[in-house]
Amino acid sequence: MSDVAVVGSGPNGLAAAVTMARAGLTVQLFEAAESIGGGTRTEELTLPGYLHDVCAAVHPMALASPFFKAFELERRIELLVPEISYGHPLDGGRAGIAYRDLDRTVAGLGVDGRVWRALMEPLLRRLGGVVDFTQSGLLRVPQDPLAALRFGLRTLAQGSPAWNLGFRGDVAPAMLTGVGAHAIGRLPSLATSGAGLLLGVLAHAQGWPVPRGGSAAIAQALGEDFTAHGGRIEVGVHVQSIAELRSATGAKAIICNTTPRVLAAMAHEELPDRYIRKLESFKYGAGVCKVDFALSGPVPWTAAELAKAPTLHLGGSRKAIALAEAEVLAGRNPQNPYVLAVQASVIDASRAPAGHHTLWAYTHVPAGSTRDCTEDIVRAVERHAPGFRDLILASSVQTARDVAGYNANYIGGDIASGAVTLKQLLQRPVVSTDPWRTPADGLYLGSASTPPGPAVHGMAGWFAARSALKNTFTLPVPSLGL
Ligand SMILES: Cc1cc2nc3c(=O)[nH]c(=O)nc-3n(C[C@H](O)[C@H](O)[C@H](O)COP(=O)(O)OP(=O)(O)OC[C@H]3O[C@@H](n4cnc5c(N)ncnc54)[C@H](O)[C@@H]3O)c2cc1C
Repeated sequence: MSDVAVVGSGPNGLAAAVTMARAGLTVQLFEAAESIGGGTRTEELTLPGYLHDVCAAVHPMALASPFFKAFELERRIELLVPEISYGHPLDGGRAGIAYRDLDRTVAGLGVDGRVWRALMEPLLRRLGGVVDFTQSGLLRVPQDPLAALRFGLRTLAQGSPAWNLGFRGDVAPAMLTGVGAHAIGRLPSLATSGAGLLLGVLAHAQGWPVPRGGSAAIAQALGEDFTAHGGRIEVGVHVQSIAELRSATGAKAIICNTTPRVLAAMAHEELPDRYIRKLESFKYGAGVCKVDFALSGPVPWTAAELAKAPTLHLGGSRKAIALAEAEVLAGRNPQNPYVLAVQASVIDASRAPAGHHTLWAYTHVPAGSTRDCTEDIVRAVERHAPGFRDLILASSVQTARDVAGYNANYIGGDIASGAVTLKQLLQRPVVSTDPWRTPADGLYLGSASTPPGPAVHGMAGWFAARSALKNTFTLPVPSLGL
């Protein structure tokens, strides 16, 4: 018997489990897969000795998330912070480079350096306020109203049809678009613009780290802390019914690290019809097709500086990326797709045998697609790195349908666990000052389908746990540090 049951062991599930265990409660964690981690697993997907992140690879929130700060993640695992947060190859051997150093980035952007500085610097100066504003529910008074105002105005400007205003060249707009496209949505739009701005600012703040050895290090650190505080983990358990889980565990609180559709199926007996309808009307976005490559050498980028950039945005100009993303949203496969690529081995030699490398890449596809995009991705890389194809020793593909089968939260291959639209940023999955609390007694939802949304930050699980501590147990929030 236990006080708390957590369903799902993604970063949010683990964050919730750690918080509840640290509060002195007995906690059981149930995970459908055979290992913990959700979107933070690392496996030899291609050949022995090549470590590939199955889902998340790069972690802009690892050093910025208030949960990870409280958990002191950077003291528990080695986060490798590159000098280049992301690179953006363009035709003609050119590339936009977002150095962690803002001045260096500005210097490289020529005519548009001034506009870049005006966009980023005021946000960097109030970084704490920007993180607070974006990493919580939007329905509350921000801690730093000036930061929220600055962020809001810039989001409006970059999310409107007038998004090119002020730019004279094509590099800076392409870079901003490449970052905004992480959100998998319409470009320009307020949701993609807000996501892009946050990621863009973090690129010049703490940077975009990758964990040594792969993203599984994050899940492992959380799992170890959880069990060290008495938590029990059961893998290979697909929870079907909250009522059955309650009677099997006796838990007073259940925190679901699931997406609304899964919650609705598990808890239809306990939740009011009106709430179930809201869960069922939650919309999912486009999917991804992901390919991992084992390589016999480094990717031969034409723009030499890209050899030092773990993260790359491929797809060309602002216009080309916006067009590709519009095609995907319309249910078609674009001719020249946007590709997000991570060559973690350029900063982490443990990912591949000496001299060899790995490349992680995905592209957006219509929801539920069974298309194998290996050739699309190879072509996109070859365009800026001729000879790449000859280095491929092995590859492994996950179509959008495979991604959906891998994790019940990624409906149709939607890795954001719910379309990232303005409506669904406010209504994730309901409009509430405590969207992590459901109307059923002691039942909470803490996943990327709740604020602050997708990415590895643990914040949604932390908020769900805090709500449970307050509303079910009347306990204070425990400290999480070492
Ligand atoms: C291909 C891909 C690439 C990505 N790249 C990045 C990236 O580079 N950087 C980044 O920050 N984010 C990235 N993401 C997104 C990130 O991984 C997710 O936003 C994040 O993992 C969400 O965390 P979560 O805890 O909410 O849920 P998840 O990590 O999705 O975990 C949910 C867990 O719950 C389990 N579960 C679900 N239902 C049940 C049930 N009924 N019973 C038992 N267990 C259940 C699942 O098996 C899963 O283990 C990527 C995702 C994918 C798929």
